[in-house]
Amino acid sequence: MKYASEFRDPKAAKAILAAIARAADSIGATRERPVHIMEICGGHTHAIFRYGLDKLVHEGVEFIHGPGCPVCVLPMSRVDECVEIAERPEVIFTTFGDAMRVPGTKRSLVQAKAAGADIRMVYSPLDALDLARRSPGREVVFFGLGFETTTPSTALSIQAAAREGLTNFSVFCNHITVPEPIRALLDDPHMTLDGFIGPGHVSMVIGTHPYDFIARDYRKPIVVAGFEPLDLLQSVLMVLRQIEDGRAEVENQYARVVPEHGNPVSLAAIADVYERRPSFEWRGLGEIDASGLRIRAKYAAFDAEEKFGIGYAAGPRHVAEPEGCACGAVMTGRIKPPACPHIGKGCTPETPLGALMVSSEGACAAYWQYGGVRAAAE
Ligand code: SF4
Repeated sequence: MKYASEFRDPKAAKAILAAIARAADSIGATRERPVHIMEICGGHTHAIFRYGLDKLVHEGVEFIHGPGCPVCVLPMSRVDECVEIAERPEVIFTTFGDAMRVPGTKRSLVQAKAAGADIRMVYSPLDALDLARRSPGREVVFFGLGFETTTPSTALSIQAAAREGLTNFSVFCNHITVPEPIRALLDDPHMTLDGFIGPGHVSMVIGTHPYDFIARDYRKPIVVAGFEPLDLLQSVLMVLRQIEDGRAEVENQYARVVPEHGNPVSLAAIADVYERRPSFEWRGLGEIDASGLRIRAKYAAFDAEEKFGIGYAAGPRHVAEPEGCACGAVMTGRIKPPACPHIGKGCTPETPLGALMVSSEGACAAYWQYGGVRAAAE
């Protein structure tokens, strides 16, 4: 396949792996004292496992899986609120497929749908908007979920609804941002992180400068990376070379896609529609200042929290994780999924206890699919 096969070339991979081994040896990285590199994005976690990169790299390089799967970091209280909105008789609740099976306290969206709630999967918020145009007697609610990658498309749908004067469309906004949880992890004295692989898709929107504080304030290297195996290997090498040289910089391996200053059209739409919440709850990380977005007052008519008096509009509420669930520890890179006592036993993709087993970007789903957990369970 042209334009993809070039990034999967085994000969080039071997050469980069050899360079990684030399750099790892040169900085004294060993199996016992590895270099900890966090891949922030769940898409990177899956690519690392799909291509077996965790096994191919030098034994002194350890990947730590970060909190970059938006479905996985959503606290259970927000899933419960989705179900509460969806169960209202006047509502058609629309969502991306990934979120359908995430467990809430009582039920997931798919279980609510089976019990009669009108919940429909969409591929874009614009599909939800179209549904609202065609359903004037119903309230169409879109479950806005995701990092800066998906935030602009939700913003565009709200702007379009406002232009058209639609009164039956709203968004339950759960959009969150990448830099703030990274700062929270770096401030955690229990975390040992030597460098980062930065998210490619998010950076397409925000550019590379929002990560400057990682290099400037914490003296850690970060390399924004693409999603093919050679992208990831080259990014690991770039992180190791920074460590070897005593540098801490923001580098852009994914320059073929990621502009330094991001996408101005997307950034303008984000700035027009959203403002920062004072704080937002993350699964495993707790409340993080300014890490979530809410819809600005001028678009309040399209804010499902305001419309239905739910969520932060009704005051924050915290719901404890299920007993023994290790999602928070996995999400923050403290343990790897195989250390969770439920993996492959009580928690499988068919019977998930946590979102990390459900989402296509979840770390537990990656270990299930590519890391031998499924085979062991069977
Ligand atoms: S195996 Fe299940 S319960 Fe354990 S961390 Fe993963 S998703 Fe959470």
